[in-house]
Amino acid sequence: MSVRVRFAPSPTGLLHVGALRTAVYDFLFAKKNGGVNILRIEDTDRTRYNPESEQEFIDTLGWVGVTFDEGPHVGGPHAPYRQSERKEAGIYTPYVNQLLESGHAYKAFETTDELAEMRQFQEINKTATGYFGGAWRDADPAKVAAAEAEGKPFVIRLKIPRNETIVMQDMIRGRIEWDSNTVDDPVLIKADGMPTYHFAAMVDDHLMEITHVLRGEEWISSTPKHLCLFAAFGWEPPVFVQCPVIVGTDGKKLSKRHGATRVLDYAAQGSLKDPLKNFIALIGWSPGDDREIMAEAELIDAFNLGGIQPSPGRFDKDKLNWINGAAIRALSTAELVAEIKAFLQYPYTFEYWSTVEAEANEPDPKVVLADLRRLQAALVTDEHYATEAIRLEQERVQTLAGFGSACAFFFEEEPPFDQKAVDKWFAEAHVGTMLIEFIGHLSAMPTASVEGMEAMVRGYAERAGFEKLGPVVHPTRVALTGKTVGPGLFELMAVLGPDRCIRRMNRAKAHLKA
Ligand code: GLU
Repeated sequence: MSVRVRFAPSPTGLLHVGALRTAVYDFLFAKKNGGVNILRIEDTDRTRYNPESEQEFIDTLGWVGVTFDEGPHVGGPHAPYRQSERKEAGIYTPYVNQLLESGHAYKAFETTDELAEMRQFQEINKTATGYFGGAWRDADPAKVAAAEAEGKPFVIRLKIPRNETIVMQDMIRGRIEWDSNTVDDPVLIKADGMPTYHFAAMVDDHLMEITHVLRGEEWISSTPKHLCLFAAFGWEPPVFVQCPVIVGTDGKKLSKRHGATRVLDYAAQGSLKDPLKNFIALIGWSPGDDREIMAEAELIDAFNLGGIQPSPGRFDKDKLNWINGAAIRALSTAELVAEIKAFLQYPYTFEYWSTVEAEANEPDPKVVLADLRRLQAALVTDEHYATEAIRLEQERVQTLAGFGSACAFFFEEEPPFDQKAVDKWFAEAHVGTMLIEFIGHLSAMPTASVEGMEAMVRGYAERAGFEKLGPVVHPTRVALTGKTVGPGLFELMAVLGPDRCIRRMNRAKAHLKA
C-alpha cells in the first residue's frame, strides 16, 4: 500500500514550531516513500476558529517548502479538505448513523449542569473523571425516543467496550496498553451537530486512506478512543506515530519565553527555508549518524520513522543560527544578494522588526530595523557597493537580518566609534602620522585594488619598524569602521575605495588620543 499522510491543523491561530515539525515529518516521509501528502483543515471547533489562520498555514508552509499533493488550496480526489465543508456535504452523517444502528454509539442528554455535577462527584471520590455511561449509555430506547421527542439537546458518544485491553503498537514507543474501563466515552457529535476531532479526524483518515498518522504526543491518551472507533467500524487503523514534545534548552516545554514560536518570525529574523527545515527535522529525529547539516534531498533520503526519538526534542536557537550561517556561506554572493532582496521585500520582515519587543541578549529591534532600511536603500542606490559589502560580511553573518547591522558601517558616512576601540588603539603614538601617510598614498591611487592596499599597509609597517601587522591593522580598521572586528583589512579598504577611506581617516584624526 502506498504511503498517504496528512497534516491536519486546526485553524485557531498562528503556525508554531511544533506543528511545523509534524508537517516537515509528513512531507519527508511522503517524499521518501513516493507517497501522497495531504493538507486537511480541521475547523469543526467553531468557537476557536480563526479565519486568518488557514492562510497563515498555507503561506508559511509554502515559504518553508513543505508541499502538498492534496488539500484545500490544490484540490484532490477527496475534496473538500475542510472539515466544516465535509460536514455541510453530509459526509459524516451516514457514519454516525451506522454507529448508532450497530449500538457502538448512543445519544446522551445530560445538561451542562449535570455533567459538572458528575465531574465534581468524581473529583470528590477521587475516581477517574470523564463520562463512563451516565444515565444514557444503556438507556431504554423508549426513554431516548421520549427525550428526543421533547426536543432535549443531546450529544452522540462512542460506547467504549468495557473489560477489554486496548493495545497500540506505537512506532516510536512500542507497545502501549490501556484497560478499557479507564477510557471514557468520547463525544463524537456535539449538541450543535458538529463532529468532534475524535470523530471527524478518524472518519477522514479512513476515507482519505491515510496509512500513517503523525501527530504530537499529546494525542497518545486519546489513541485508545480512536482505536475503538476504528474497531467499531471494522476498519483497519492507520499506524500512529506520536512525535515527542519540543522543549527549550532549559528542558521546559517550548514557549514564548524561549524566543519566537511562530514560524514566520524565523523568516523575519532571516532564516533561510532549507536550513530551517533541516533544523526542525533534527528536533527529535536523527538520521542515525552524526550528520547535522543536510540538504532537502539528503533529509528525504535519510528520513525514517524509526529515527524519531521518544525523548523530548530540544529547540536550540544557536544550532539553527549555526546551520543557517553555514547555508549562507554555501551560497554564491549573487544568490545571497537575491535572498536578501527577497527577504527585504517580504512585508512581514519590517512588520516583525517594528513590533517585536526588545529582549536581553538579542539585538535591539529598533537598530535592526534602521540597519535593514539602510541596507535596502543601499541595494537600490548603489547595488554594486552593497553587494561588495554583503560579500565581505558573508563569512561571519548567521541570519539575513544580521546583514543590516553587519554592513551598516559601509553605508554610514560617519559610523559611530566603539569607545573601547578608540581608547585602546587611538592612544598609540604612531597612529596620527600613519593615517597622514595613508591619506597621501590613497590620494595618489588610481584604482582601488586589494593588492594595492596590502602593499601600502605592509610598506608602512616595514618602514615604521613593526614586525607584526596588528598595531597597523587595528587602528586603521577602527578609523574606517569604528570597530575592532570586521572583514580582512585589505579587502575592506578596496571595497570602501580611496575616497571613502580618506574621508574616514580624516575624521578619525580628530579622535586621536596621542
Ligand atoms: N487538528 C489536530 C490539531 O491541530 C490534529 C491532530 C492530528 O494530526 O490528528 O491538533
